Amino acid sequence: MNYEDAKVCSSCLEIYGFIYLKSGIFYQKCNSKCPVRDLKETMPITEKEQAKWEGYDYNQVLTLCYCCGAEQLRSGSRWSVWFCETCRKRVLEFNQEIGISLIPIGRHSLMNGIGLELGPVVSKIKIKETFDDLRQLGARIDRMDQWKKIGKSHNWLSTGLDPEQDISLIKYLCSVKGFSKEDAFLRLREFFLR
Ligand SMILES: [Zn+2]
Ligand SMILES: [Zn+2]
Repeated sequence: MNYEDAKVCSSCLEIYGFIYLKSGIFYQKCNSKCPVRDLKETMPITEKEQAKWEGYDYNQVLTLCYCCGAEQLRSGSRWSVWFCETCRKRVLEFNQEIGISLIPIGRHSLMNGIGLELGPVVSKIKIKETFDDLRQLGARIDRMDQWKKIGKSHNWLSTGLDPEQDISLIKYLCSVKGFSKEDAFLRLREFFLR
């Protein structure tokens, strides 16, 4: 994979631009709610209306770890994990400690321990519980969407990068290298416990 042409958007703090994979060249857009998503200089006009990429659940190749924001991760699948290895371990330990998946690790319900075991008899109570769990998971995923930007803003401000300028992904990753992942996790945890 080559992402030397990819950038981080200074508005939504997500990755966009050309990413070159063995399987093809992808123009990834930044956050779907970002106001300047379709206004990037590097975006070919043909990418304005993107069809869903074959083999992907979302048109996304790379994302930054939702906790530390300091590592790029493969994404684009419903099963993609939102955290780098170090942060994922911390999140899983925390969820285990409190006994629920308060901090979701990805979009799929099964990744967060929610699913109906389909035996010959599925009780109505169990179905209701599962639906309640799913609703709560949806709310936590929304919360994670809010967090994504807050967490990365912290990085962005700490690097002293120009808040108005998009920056190359490689340069961003170099700038945030060495930031404490533990501190990032503590901020994430506090946000979810609020
Ligand atoms: Zn953006
Ligand atoms: Zn991380």
